[in-house]
Amino acid sequence: MSTSTSPNSASPPTSTYLDTSSLRRSWRRGATPPPNLDVVQWAERFRRLSKESSNGGKFITAKVEVARGPMLWATEPGVSKMTLMACTQLLKTTVIENITGRFIHVDPCPILGVLPKDDAAETFSKDRLAPMIRDTKVLLELFGEAKSRDAAATLTHKQFPGGHITLVGANSPTNLAMRPIRLLVCDEIDKYPLSAGGEGPPIDLAEERQAEFKTNSLTVLACSPTVAGRSAIEASYEESDQRKAFVLCPHCPTWQPLEWEQVKFDKDDDGKIIVASARYECIACERPWSEAQRLAALRTIEWRQTRGFTCCGEKQVPEQWAPLAHGVRRALCRCCGTLAVSNDHAGGQASKLYAPKQTIRETVAKFARALRRGPEALRTFFNTQLARTWREGVDAPEWKDVYARRDDYLSGTVSHGALILFGGVDVQKDRLEVSIWGFGRNRERWLVEHRVLTGDTARPAVWSELAALFDETWEHASGAEMAVRDWGIDSSAFTDVVYAFVRSQAGRGNIHAIDGQDSYSNIFLGLGTKDANPRGRKIRRGLKTVRVGVSLAKQELMSCLGLQRPAAGAAFPAGFVHLPRDVSEDGVQQLTAEELVVSLSRGKTRREWVPIGGRRNEWLDCPNYARGLAAMRGWDRWRETQWRTLEDALGIRPQSVAPAIEVVAPAVIAGSLADRNMKRSVRRSVARKGPARW
Ligand SMILES: [Zn+2]
Ligand SMILES: [Zn+2]
Repeated sequence: MSTSTSPNSASPPTSTYLDTSSLRRSWRRGATPPPNLDVVQWAERFRRLSKESSNGGKFITAKVEVARGPMLWATEPGVSKMTLMACTQLLKTTVIENITGRFIHVDPCPILGVLPKDDAAETFSKDRLAPMIRDTKVLLELFGEAKSRDAAATLTHKQFPGGHITLVGANSPTNLAMRPIRLLVCDEIDKYPLSAGGEGPPIDLAEERQAEFKTNSLTVLACSPTVAGRSAIEASYEESDQRKAFVLCPHCPTWQPLEWEQVKFDKDDDGKIIVASARYECIACERPWSEAQRLAALRTIEWRQTRGFTCCGEKQVPEQWAPLAHGVRRALCRCCGTLAVSNDHAGGQASKLYAPKQTIRETVAKFARALRRGPEALRTFFNTQLARTWREGVDAPEWKDVYARRDDYLSGTVSHGALILFGGVDVQKDRLEVSIWGFGRNRERWLVEHRVLTGDTARPAVWSELAALFDETWEHASGAEMAVRDWGIDSSAFTDVVYAFVRSQAGRGNIHAIDGQDSYSNIFLGLGTKDANPRGRKIRRGLKTVRVGVSLAKQELMSCLGLQRPAAGAAFPAGFVHLPRDVSEDGVQQLTAEELVVSLSRGKTRREWVPIGGRRNEWLDCPNYARGLAAMRGWDRWRETQWRTLEDALGIRPQSVAPAIEVVAPAVIAGSLADRNMKRSVRRSVARKGPARW
C-alpha cells in the first residue's frame, strides 16, 4: 500500500545493499549514500526482528497494519513533529525503532533519544537498540565500522558514518543540551519530570538542539496517555492534526475509527458483563462485526486528519479528504476543496481495538476485570488499552442537587433500612463535630444525626459531653432502640488529647482513634500501633489506631452523593446516601465542600482533596471515619445472613426485602467513573484543551 509519491522512493538494485563492502568503500569516498527510502520500504527490506521482542524474522508491515501510517509520516513532506498517543504493545516501539533504523542507515544524522530517566535510556539501549542493530545486517555493518574507529562508543552514545545516536534521561539537563541534533525521539513522555533539573521542560530543552536543522528536523513523541488535563501526550495530540485510523464496515459503506463506545456487551441479571456477548457494532448500520470481519477490516486502514478547521468562512469538521499519500488522507475544505489542515504536526491515536492479536472479547474481559478491581485498574485500562486519558476522581456534586433529593425522615431517627450505626468525630480547637451514620443493604447509608459539641477541646468538659453521647440510643423506624456499634475519633490533630481520651474509654471496647491516611488502596487499612511513650518508644499493648483511607472514602462518598434519586417506588441505586428532611443547607454544603485536584510533582501525579472556595468541611470528615469503621466490621462483604442477624438482634421483622444484590464496593465507584469517562469522550469533539506542558 505504499503510496509514496516521492521520486526518491524508486527501488535501487538490491545488490547495492547486500554488498556491504562496496558500500563501505563508497562512504570512504564520501559518495553514494543509500537512496531515500521511506520507513516502511526500509523496514520491509532491511529490518530483522529480534527474538527478544517477537518470533524474529523479516519485518512485515501488514502484521501491524495500523503502524504503516505513522511510519510513513516520518518522511511525509511538511511534517516536522509526530505525536503517537497509543495503547501499549501495539505500534509505538515498532514505529520508533524503524524510524531510527531508517535514519541511521538511509539518511544519517545526529539522533537524540529521550527516555524518562537515565536508567530507562540504558535499558532502551540494551533491550531495543542493541538487538535491532545485532539482527539487522545493514545496521550491524554501520556500527561495526564505527566501533573500530570510535573507542568511546558507550551504551548511551554510539556513532555511525554520518551521525550518532545518543540516549539520555529526561531528568538530566546537561545531556539534553549537549549537541545539535536532527532527529529527536521522545518515548514515555508522560513520565518526564516537568523540569529537567530546574532548567525547563525536557522536551523544550531537547528541541532547542534542533535549531541547526530547522528545515529537515523531525521530532517524534510517543506515550500512552495518563490523567486528563495533565497528560503531555494528550496535550501534544490535541495540538496536532489529530489523525485517526479509519476502517470500512463489512456490512455498509461507512469508514470509521474504531471507538470504545461502539463496543457492546450484555449484562446478566446481577449486572455482570457477559464477556461472550462482546462485539463491535458499526456506528452507522449498527450491525455487529464478527472477529473475522474485524480482522479483515484491519487489513485496510486509512489514517485521516480529524482536526476541525475554519475555511471559506465556515467552521468545519473534516468530511472530505484528499487521496491517500504518505500514509494519510488530508482534510479538504468542503467548499473550496483545498487542503485545510496543516500537516506540520502529525498526530495519531490508536487503541487495542486495532490490535490483530487481541480480540474484542479479550478487551471487554479486561474491562470487566478493571471494573471489579476499582478506579485504579479502570484508569490503567483507559490509558493502556484505549489510549485515552482518564478523568481523575470525581468532582463534588452540586450541593443544591444533593439538598433537593434528601429523604423524608427526621434527624435523630433511624430509617428502616439502616441496621447498624457508626459514629465519626472530628476534633477542632473549640468543638467536636459528631456524625452518626446508619448502614444497610445495597451499600446504602443514612445520616442519622450531626451534632456539634462546643467547648475547648484542651479541657475535659466537652469530652465528658462526648462520653455521655456514647450512652445514648436512637430510635429505629421499627421502634427498637439502637446504640452505636463503634465510634471513631480523628487523631490527626490534637493527637495526645485524643489518645488520652480514647484510652480513658478503653472499658467500652468500641471507642477508637482514627488515623486518616491519604490512600486510595482501601478504606479500612488495618490497625496501627502508633502509641508511643514520650521518648518515642512504642508502648507494648499500647492503644491501637484504626487506619482509614480517607481519600478513597471521600472519593466514594462524592460518587455516591452524585447518585440520582429513583422514581417513586423504584429501588435506590446501590450506594445511595440518604439525608434527613431537616438537614441544614450548611451541612450539605460542607458534605460537598471538597474537590479532587490533581497535580504533577516531580513527575508524579499527586491527588489532593481541596476545600472549594473556603467552605468549611468538618461534616465531610465525619462520615469517612464512620465509613472506615463500617469497613472494619466488614460491611463491604456482608451478605443477607448478616443483615438477618442484625434484624433479629433489633427484634424487627424484615421489610419485604428484595433479594439482595451483591455489589462489590469498588464496582459502584468504578462504574460511575467509567460512565463519566464515556460521557466525556463523547463530548471530546468539542475540543477541550488541557494545559500544555510545554
Ligand atoms: Zn455498517
Ligand atoms: Zn475553503
